[in-house]
Amino acid sequence: MAHRGANLIALAGNPNCGKTTLFNAITGERRHVGNYPGITVEKKEGYCQVDGGQIQLVDLPGTYSLTAYSPEELVARNYLIQDRPDAVINIVDSSNIERNLYLTVQLLELGIPVLIALNMVDMAAARGLEINVEELARRLRLPVIPTVARTGRGKEELLEAAWRLVQKDAVWAPLYISYGPDIDPVLNKMEALIGSAGFLTDLLPARWTALKYLETDGEVIRKGKEKDPALSGKLEELAEQVSQHLQKTLDSYPEAIIADHRYGFITALLKGGVVKQSHKADRLYLSDQLDRVLTNRFFGPLLMMLIIYAVYKFTFTYSKVPVGWLEAGFSELGRLADSSLPPGPFKSLIVSGVIDGVGGVLGFVPLILFMFFAIAILEDTGYLARVAYMLDRVFRTFGLHGSSVMAYIISGGIAGGCAVPGVLAARTLRSPRERIATLITAPFMNCGAKLPVFAMLIAAFFSAKEAQVMFLLTILSWAAALLIAKLIRSTILRGPSTPFLLELPPYRLPTFKGLLIHTWERAWQYIRKAGTIILAISIIFWALMSFPGLPETDRKIYDEERASIPAGGPDSQARLQVVDNEEAQAALKNSIAGRIGSGLTLITTVNGFDWRTNVALVSGIAAKEIIISTMGTAYSLGRSRRGEQIPLSRRLAADSSWTPLKAFSLIIFIMLYAPCFATITCIIRESSWKWGLFSMVFNTLTAFIVSALVYRGGLWLGLG
Ligand code: GDP
Ligand code: MG
Repeated sequence: MAHRGANLIALAGNPNCGKTTLFNAITGERRHVGNYPGITVEKKEGYCQVDGGQIQLVDLPGTYSLTAYSPEELVARNYLIQDRPDAVINIVDSSNIERNLYLTVQLLELGIPVLIALNMVDMAAARGLEINVEELARRLRLPVIPTVARTGRGKEELLEAAWRLVQKDAVWAPLYISYGPDIDPVLNKMEALIGSAGFLTDLLPARWTALKYLETDGEVIRKGKEKDPALSGKLEELAEQVSQHLQKTLDSYPEAIIADHRYGFITALLKGGVVKQSHKADRLYLSDQLDRVLTNRFFGPLLMMLIIYAVYKFTFTYSKVPVGWLEAGFSELGRLADSSLPPGPFKSLIVSGVIDGVGGVLGFVPLILFMFFAIAILEDTGYLARVAYMLDRVFRTFGLHGSSVMAYIISGGIAGGCAVPGVLAARTLRSPRERIATLITAPFMNCGAKLPVFAMLIAAFFSAKEAQVMFLLTILSWAAALLIAKLIRSTILRGPSTPFLLELPPYRLPTFKGLLIHTWERAWQYIRKAGTIILAISIIFWALMSFPGLPETDRKIYDEERASIPAGGPDSQARLQVVDNEEAQAALKNSIAGRIGSGLTLITTVNGFDWRTNVALVSGIAAKEIIISTMGTAYSLGRSRRGEQIPLSRRLAADSSWTPLKAFSLIIFIMLYAPCFATITCIIRESSWKWGLFSMVFNTLTAFIVSALVYRGGLWLGLG
């Protein structure tokens, strides 16, 4: 490799291996945090001096592998391939060495020069693990340096070894592993094809590309198709043949066999006394004892429900106070703008578009902080892995994964969550198919913004059975999410679940600082987004509901009507209110959103929705809580400027065009239709534009069909 100014070294390792700690220990304050271009994954860079030379360090996102299963993995991989650092320091958590070496094997298969920082040797020792470092280094043919990132032990030796490695200017030399009699022959054939055609070989070893085709790696196949469609097609065909053969003979997929052989390689590597368990360490013993209870067949699920409930309670109870402060702050800001700005569209834009919109989004921040803090505790202690482990069987039946449960619960699985952090929580899912199925279905849960709408409709039509109906809605949302997930996973996202070990790491006591860092890292991504995309969307929705407004002649009529009411009369306030409301309703009906709502009645007669309901549903895509205020306006109960207002629920109950059946069909629709824009934005960030759009269209279609069936079925049964 040609030399750049400084020697570039990347830090790679599993999540929680101590990467950040080591990076900070090495670079001290000389670091810089930015972003990888185009994505929200953080990129940390820093410098350090060794032997008079300078090293530039880049902290890659924590990954278990270099497949394209998650955004982090893709970022790490693309960085290695495209920016081609001079070497990689692979940080291995020695107390969990077998699992951590899985990434090492993939780095070696890529061929990039690697040295290993065998971190947490203090923990390994405490757990009674003895690692023969020299032997490990000899077998791997690369430098292995024991370190304790927390205290900085081994830091100097590591940097010196890294310096020696980059001075050698080593070329990339991929490791070859045997993948057994079924895969090896095809792999060799593919490698030969790739090599002779020079297919992608400017950046990638031929065998690596062949392996990616066998692992059906979307990203590599896409690149391959661009480069050489004919050859790419041939490779896909070969991969498909192996896949079918393996399914027939071993009931397995290439990905699984490949993973098996990598682990086999690691097992062999550590055999013969490289790793010895001298005594059963206290922590391990304690972990086992804890697991006897915490993952017990009977008590495990019970305790899990309790803990999940506690997380939920903690988040939604304690965040109420700061959420309240923020809400109060923003409404104060709104009042201030209201009283200081001259009336007109600009004021309306600032008050209803900008302040309400951004306030609505930032209002989630305390919630998200509390939620992520609770999840960080579960994750850092090792409990989250147990939850996934216990629920994996059930969720697998529906084409999901044990980890999907967290996304569901946070989204409102116990009623009253929020799909924004829920969607972000789906990051722990490593299989893209399972992750996307989770992203699409998590918004079916009854989030905190849908609840007030449900509460209003229930109060109007099912007031005798409030609790029962609420419980029924919770069950329905889970049933819908699981069944739709199953549907998606057996049609457009058909395919095996990606093999990955569900292993149970020992329980650990998290540090407070670590928890705070993890919480903040995640929350910050959300906050940054609020300033940009969501602000824009909220302005668009404000415009849809405000323009073109009432024609001048109509406005005059309302003004005249107001003028005709004698001031100070006995019911003048109430009469003025009626005129205000009528004007607001007329303006809404004449707005773009109102016209869309009226247009939609062509279709929604099937569900029994009129233009008022439609316009409320359209506005609800901006944020579900807006549904109530829009319905209020549409039913002439707009933001009351004067006097008391009749509750919307009483108004609907008295309206002869409404029936309990219609209300129920509306509830079902609201439960299932397009996620709010904050959620859609997150889905896009976590997957792609395609899936964000899909969630909007598909979920609305699902809502339409299910609620129409409910409504028409109910009418047929004579319930209307
Ligand atoms: P990252 O996810 O790879 O960035 O890991 P962190 O740097 O956040 O470290 C995870 C946890 O392991 C933190 O609580 C660290 O304090 C702890 N840790 C890191 N290195 C060591 C080590 O060498 N020994 C011990 N005992 N703990 C460590
Ligand atoms: Mg980190």
